[in-house]
Amino acid sequence: MNLIDIKSKSLEEVIEEFKNIGEPKFRAKQVYAWLTKGTMSFNDMSDLSLKLRDKLSSFYYIANAKIERKLISKIDGTIKYLFKLNDGEFIESVLMRYHHGYTICISSQVGCKMGCKFCATGKSGFSRNLTASEMISQIQSAQMDNNIRISNVVLMGMGEPLDNYDNVIKFLKLVSSENGLNIGMRHISLSTCGLVDKIYELSKEKLQLTLSVSLHAPNDEIRNKLMPINNRFNVDELIKACRYYVEKTGRRISFEYAMISLVNDSDMCANELVKRLSNMLCHVNLIPVNDSGNLKSGYKKSSKDRLERFSKILLENGINVTVRRTLGSDINASCGQLRRTIQDMEG
Ligand code: SAH
Ligand code: SF4
Repeated sequence: MNLIDIKSKSLEEVIEEFKNIGEPKFRAKQVYAWLTKGTMSFNDMSDLSLKLRDKLSSFYYIANAKIERKLISKIDGTIKYLFKLNDGEFIESVLMRYHHGYTICISSQVGCKMGCKFCATGKSGFSRNLTASEMISQIQSAQMDNNIRISNVVLMGMGEPLDNYDNVIKFLKLVSSENGLNIGMRHISLSTCGLVDKIYELSKEKLQLTLSVSLHAPNDEIRNKLMPINNRFNVDELIKACRYYVEKTGRRISFEYAMISLVNDSDMCANELVKRLSNMLCHVNLIPVNDSGNLKSGYKKSSKDRLERFSKILLENGINVTVRRTLGSDINASCGQLRRTIQDMEG
């Protein structure tokens, strides 16, 4: 019999499950509290009888993210985790400390199908989607390892979250639930390479999260070269979907723009971007492209001068812009998969 993934369930669903196996509501609540704490095995649920622990193990399994490796930045304390999942797959998360608390950048898939040319995850191919419980587990493992409470979550690790839509929505509901980790939607960001159909779907959910869109180019000519997804949904269609999203949710969009020397960092690109984004409630994050590691993409970071000039053009034209501070540079926290950096959470 296939075991059921109990940590992907809400409290209400666990209560319903327990009804079916003849266990009372208070037991469901007890087990749910253990699961929320990050308990990795039914055997560790010390206030349950051995018989019940065995019974639960015969119906359910608990998804875990076990620490396989851990790199700590000497510069700023950022921690990069390599987690091992129940089936032996590996994923990465990055924990960052800011003045307002801890932020974790989590993965949504093992690998990614989207094949962006500048991205290490894109180069490594796709293995499988993560379950909601595996996304939760990354947060729990980092919390337990440091004895902290994480206040902000960004879905910007390995994978394209909107390509794993149902599990990601389930995760968002679980993680923000009062009975669960209780991390409010306003403290959550989701980054997408631009799956337009899913952006429309997400608009309907009317969640208070921050949507980040990885734009990286102001036109199809450049974006087609960098991001294969642009051949399916072009810049026009993407921006239209973003405007719709803002209109429906009242939330501003955060555009990610990796600055690549001589590719997308000219004054002309900046001016084109201004036109694209005119009158939209949005924010642009300029990130010097990370060209470290064994990516061999041939892409180089824009110079500091270029970054400043580019951001000045946006600013002068009324577009909110930040140049992103990179954390954990010595541990390659920004290796192209989990290159995580400051996320503007104010939304
Ligand atoms: N798949 C989603 C989220 C994960 S990638 C997305 O693409 O948005 C998280 C962010 O890292 C994206 O903005 C992505 O474009 C960016 N990124 C990937 N590789 C990078 C690199 N080498 N340098 C700078 N940013 C990179
Ligand atoms: Fe996938 Fe995002 Fe990397 Fe593109 S940038 S390959 S969508 S993880």
